[in-house]
Amino acid sequence: MPTAGWGQLSQPVNWVLMIGGILALILSTLAYVWLRSIQQLRQRDAESRLARSVFNSSNEGMLITSPRDDVIGMNPAVTAITGYTAAELLGMPLSFLTAENITPEDQRKVHAAVSQHGVWQGEIHARHKGGHVFPVALTVTAVLDQSGKPSSFINTFSDISERKSNEARIQDLALRDTLTGLPNRMDLYNRLEALLKQGQSLAVMILDLDNFKIINDTLGHAVGDQLLVEVGKRLMTAINPRDIVSRLGGDEFVVVLVNEHASQVAGSLAESILLKLARPYLIEGYELHSSSSIGIGIYPVDGNDASSLLKNVDTAMYEAKSHGKNNYKFFTEKMREQISERLRLENHLRQALFRQEFELHYQPQVHIASGQITGVEALIRWNHPQWGMVQPDKFIRIAEDSNLIVPLGEWVLQEACRQISKWRGEGLDELCMSVNISARQLQSRHLFSLIDHLVATHDIKPGTLELEITESVAMDDPEKTISRMKKLRAKGVALAIDDFGTGYSSLSYLKLLPLTRLKIDRSFVKDIETDPNDAAICTATIALAQILDLGLVAEGVETEAQLNYLREQGCDTAQGYYFSKPLPAQQLFEFIQRFQQGQVTTP
Ligand code: C2E
Ligand code: MG
Ligand code: MG
Repeated sequence: MPTAGWGQLSQPVNWVLMIGGILALILSTLAYVWLRSIQQLRQRDAESRLARSVFNSSNEGMLITSPRDDVIGMNPAVTAITGYTAAELLGMPLSFLTAENITPEDQRKVHAAVSQHGVWQGEIHARHKGGHVFPVALTVTAVLDQSGKPSSFINTFSDISERKSNEARIQDLALRDTLTGLPNRMDLYNRLEALLKQGQSLAVMILDLDNFKIINDTLGHAVGDQLLVEVGKRLMTAINPRDIVSRLGGDEFVVVLVNEHASQVAGSLAESILLKLARPYLIEGYELHSSSSIGIGIYPVDGNDASSLLKNVDTAMYEAKSHGKNNYKFFTEKMREQISERLRLENHLRQALFRQEFELHYQPQVHIASGQITGVEALIRWNHPQWGMVQPDKFIRIAEDSNLIVPLGEWVLQEACRQISKWRGEGLDELCMSVNISARQLQSRHLFSLIDHLVATHDIKPGTLELEITESVAMDDPEKTISRMKKLRAKGVALAIDDFGTGYSSLSYLKLLPLTRLKIDRSFVKDIETDPNDAAICTATIALAQILDLGLVAEGVETEAQLNYLREQGCDTAQGYYFSKPLPAQQLFEFIQRFQQGQVTTP
């Protein structure tokens, strides 16, 4: 029996099944499309609800504007920020809200930036309904139509008053001296430069208190601080509102006198400031007396810009100080010449280091009781090809100010140590070498490694190398000096305080310094026989050295009478022209030979 296949079904049944299938397919497609569109509608609805809720609940103000910048929509934050309701703003131009005048040109620029970069950001000032003006950060973006043109703009903004006032406060702090509240150095420079740009005729004064360090060191920083505050206040009472009083730091103040006749009136202002500052100060129960020294410079004669003007005025201030303090000095042509002379010397000094124009001379130190030369002091000389032998008082200060003292001092130490080992080879085993070191050298990071290196290279025995530090340097920052000196002492280096009596030593610090000797300054030795004060200082220093168990060298001994006096008082070592001037190494060696053999006749 033949099997029945599809092809064998009757024709009508076949058609019905096909049409039914197609219908089912169409229906299911329609259902799918319908469901998709329902889903998309729901999704879009959810998205727009989300956007609306973001729009409504945002803390940032959002203003929708037309391409002509009229407000066509806004969120509630706009009212919170500006005070205006939707009814008051809708239809108004955006410029209604801004404090600045927004020109069509500004508007065009913003729109151009938005179409080019998609966004414009900036800070503008808005006006609150209450009338006050406040800064806002504004971001403008565009909503594009189907052709890609902006159909509207979204202006998102927030009030940045708080951020701005914080920034201003930080800026203000950066420009203010925290102790006195006066403009600080940076602010002074800014203001001075601004005045100079305007071509203002003015006088600049730098004022330095004469005895501040003593007050600060003896009565403490709290008293010192209050004194500075009081000085600032008194200076403020001396000036006009256009003038400036600034604190540069430490006990240095600047007064800028803005006046057409500055050069004529500066002197009398300086005088009245000196009087005001010299009146006693009552601080924490102390009645303090302080004077000051003032340098004055006039713009534009004494400097074209703030920094050269201040530099020259500083020179004038130092001149006032060196002329007995409590006075004022105008910057002069002579001072300018001195400055250029200093610069010339500084340049020569720099070259001299390379050209090796320095040499050391040595001055013997004699142990008074035994009459033996026990040491020498190394003293630098500059053998200049044209000027001849230049003494250190002509160049050490300049080397210190220009920092050249550090390489120069390193050379001195190297040369002195080389000489110790050379003389040791020639039989001078016990000779002690004293080397002067300056403040900057003592602070220099390389000093310790240099000493280690020299001690090792030249096999320097403990105690044969002595470093001399002047009293003023040692007492400038005693705590720091103590720790650095202790490190040096631990390396076997002997330590002396040079020019003792010319600074002011705190006895408690003196006790803490790991010293081996004191050197009485020669100014006290000079008049030891005629001036009872000098004699008393020498006697007291000798006693002090004995109490502190320190050695004592008297400098500048020129006569037998001075030597005898020192011997009677118990001073152990003397150095000076009475025995010998500083001599070059070979001559000193020969001098020692003759001296030890009793062949030297003293003057
Ligand atoms: P100082 O260290 O107090 O040196 C003593 C000074 O007194 C030397 O002057 C010396 O020549 C001088 N002198 C010695 N005996 C007498 C005397 O009987 N009568 C007189 N009138 N003077 C005498 P000098 O060599 O001109 O040195 C001056 C200052 O320069 C030194 O004073 C020292 O502070 C500094 N100095 C010298 N060499 C160096 C150095 O290598 N480094 C540093 N940092 N400073 C140095
Ligand atoms: Mg010395
Ligand atoms: Mg000295």
